[in-house]
Amino acid sequence: MRILSGMRPTGKLHLGNYFGALAHWVKLQQQGEECFFSIVDWHALSSDYADPTELQSNIREVLLDWLAVGLDPQRSTIFLQSQVKEHAEMYLLLSMITPLGWLTRVPTYKEQQQELQGKDLSTHGFLGYPVLQAADILLYQSDAVPVGEDQLPHLELTREIIRRLNGLYKLKLPEPKPLLTKTPKINGTDGRKMSKSYNNAIYLADSKAQIDKAVMEMVTDPARKRRSDPGEPDNCNLFPLHRVMTDSNTRDEIVSGCRSAQLGCVDCKKLLTTSIHNFLEPIQKKRQTTAKDAGYLDRVLADGAEKARRVAASTIDQIRKAMNLK
Ligand code: SF4
Repeated sequence: MRILSGMRPTGKLHLGNYFGALAHWVKLQQQGEECFFSIVDWHALSSDYADPTELQSNIREVLLDWLAVGLDPQRSTIFLQSQVKEHAEMYLLLSMITPLGWLTRVPTYKEQQQELQGKDLSTHGFLGYPVLQAADILLYQSDAVPVGEDQLPHLELTREIIRRLNGLYKLKLPEPKPLLTKTPKINGTDGRKMSKSYNNAIYLADSKAQIDKAVMEMVTDPARKRRSDPGEPDNCNLFPLHRVMTDSNTRDEIVSGCRSAQLGCVDCKKLLTTSIHNFLEPIQKKRQTTAKDAGYLDRVLADGAEKARRVAASTIDQIRKAMNLK
C-alpha cells in the first residue's frame, strides 16, 4: 500500500500528536508500507501567512520529533512540501476543476474561520486548503490516507475531486481510502483536547520538571472532591495517559485504589510522571543526538524531496498530457 500523510509545522509535537498520529505512522512504516510523510509548510501559510517568522524553526522541531519517535528516512520518504514544486502545479490544475460550492460547504471551513478569530481567513488560500490537500495526496497516487474521524469530510472531498478529474479526462487515478484507526483520546491538562493553542500540552521534548509541573496541574475526576472520596478512572482526565503508558499491573492497582479511595490523586500523578519519563527517555535521547548533527536535517529533507519528486513528476506528466498541456 502506498500511504501519504502530512503534518503542519506548528513547532514541537506533544503526546496528543504522538498517540493521535505518529504512533500509527511508525506502525505503518514497520509493516513495510510505502510511506510518504510530508511537513506541509504551504498549508501552514494558509492560516499563518501574516507572520511566518517561526516557520523554519517550527519545521526543524517537527522533523526532530518525527525522527526521534522512529520515522526512518531509509524506510519512508520524509520531505518538505514546498521543496517539491509539483504540489503547487497540481494544486493549480485541480483548482481549475473544483467547483466553488464544494469548498464553501466543507464543514470545517466556517468553524475554523470562527475558531481562529483574530486572523483574516477570508483568503483564496484558506478556502482552497482542501484542494492543496487533494493535490498532496494525488501526486503520490496514494492508496490510503491515515485519518481521524474529523478529517473524513476532507478526504471525501479529495476523492470527489479525483473522480471529477478521472471523469473529465478519462484517467484512472486511484481514489484514496481512509485508514481509520481507533486512536486513544489524549486530553490536555485542562481536560480539553491536547493542543498547542490551548496551552495545555505535554511536549515530547519537555524536561522532567516541565512534565512534573504539567501533570500536577491536571484536572482529575471532578466528582472526587476530597482525598477520602472514591474516584472513577473512566471519568478522570489523567487516566487515558495511564492507559497508553503505564504497565497493566500498576494500572489495575490504580483502578482499584482510585475506586476504593486508597490511592490519592497526588500519588496517582506521581505514578504517571514516572510513566511519562520512562516513555520519553529514549525519544529525547535520540532527539538530542540528532540535533547535534547540524547538516543532517537538511540532508534528510533534500533526499526526501528528490525521492518524492520522482513520483510526483510522473503523475504531473500524466495529468498535463491529459489536459493537453505540453
Ligand atoms: S486517583 Fe488517579 S485515576 Fe483516580 S481520580 Fe485521582 S488521578 Fe484520576
